[in-house]
Amino acid sequence: MTTHNRKVDFLKQALPGIAQMRPYSPGKPVSELARELGLDDIIKLASNENPLGCGELATAAVVSGLDELEMYPDGNGFELKKALSMQHQVASDRITLGNGSNDVLELLARTFVQAGDEVIFSEYAFAVYSLVTQAVGGVSKIAPAKNFGHDLEAMHDLLSAKTKLIFIANPNNPTGTWLASGELKRFLNRVPSQVLVVVDEAYFEYVLESDYPDTAGWISDYPNLVVTRTFSKAHGLASLRMGYSLSHPDVADLMNRIRQPFNVNGLAQLAAAAALGDQTHLQESVKVNQHGLKELEHLCKKMGIGYIPSVGNFLAVDVGKSGNEVFQQLLQEGIIVRPLAEYGMPNYVRITIGTPQQIERVIFALKKVLHK
Ligand SMILES: *Cc1c(COP(=O)(O)O)cnc(C)c1O
Repeated sequence: MTTHNRKVDFLKQALPGIAQMRPYSPGKPVSELARELGLDDIIKLASNENPLGCGELATAAVVSGLDELEMYPDGNGFELKKALSMQHQVASDRITLGNGSNDVLELLARTFVQAGDEVIFSEYAFAVYSLVTQAVGGVSKIAPAKNFGHDLEAMHDLLSAKTKLIFIANPNNPTGTWLASGELKRFLNRVPSQVLVVVDEAYFEYVLESDYPDTAGWISDYPNLVVTRTFSKAHGLASLRMGYSLSHPDVADLMNRIRQPFNVNGLAQLAAAAALGDQTHLQESVKVNQHGLKELEHLCKKMGIGYIPSVGNFLAVDVGKSGNEVFQQLLQEGIIVRPLAEYGMPNYVRITIGTPQQIERVIFALKKVLHK
């Protein structure tokens, strides 16, 4: 008998955490819906992408990099780190670059969490926190939410001698809720200093509330604080995969030991550095989002549709029935949103703030499918 005829249970062979995982389910790509329905006028409001795209400076930077595709990128990201270091007024040795901030979240888990260690995050939090925890055999400790937002008191209650990491998304995706400076600082003051607190600020640029914290300025006060940011959202560079963390230099040094030597590609480094210098595009993106968010909230209110007030570039909308069903019905209208059943919010869909035209279209379609 040849070996390939023998049955192997690969589930048993896999690491226990991984055998129990379900993969991340991303927003449905436009091309997939186009293939399925033969539609050509499709809008995707499912992955919190920037409806304006990236800025011209970033595009030009990518084009300038096209004649060096045969070269390995700078594995240490010197130029980009220099630009980030200026932007945040922190030393370069506190910066860790990632293939998206998702990469950094995973590096943190792989560096600090071993089988049996505990990781705290909130109910309704970003799906990646549980994935990176499970992958390394960590135990997810999930704090009940308060009004869909993070309840820092409940998170604090879950601390134990086994706690290694705490993930806090500010604002949170998919709920759009946020934590003010004072409450976050009080929490940091109470967390034992060996427990890393990761504040995920993927939507930082969009938040205009006056007491929303810029925790990049706190990392020298709190050695256990790690702040993550991304170029995927407000900077419009999701395709290039570029994110980073700011942390204590020792934390950065440890993550640096396990990251892939060239985890951030050359075009992404060029584009990100250019995007940092493009305040015009960033401000325009934030302005369009602010208007769009207010408009979508206003129209939902007018139609009697509930939603969770958001400070991000998306709105979690209570459709009053199965969000999966509404998701399917909106697909028929050529609109891709994100159903939130997997987040424990079966009656919600998350809608990314698009251009005024896209918002008009999604509202028109919602009226139709919800009979409003
Ligand atoms: C989108 C998102 C990210 C990560 O995005 P990357 O593209 O990997 O940088 C991280 N955290 C939250 C809460 C997000 O919504």
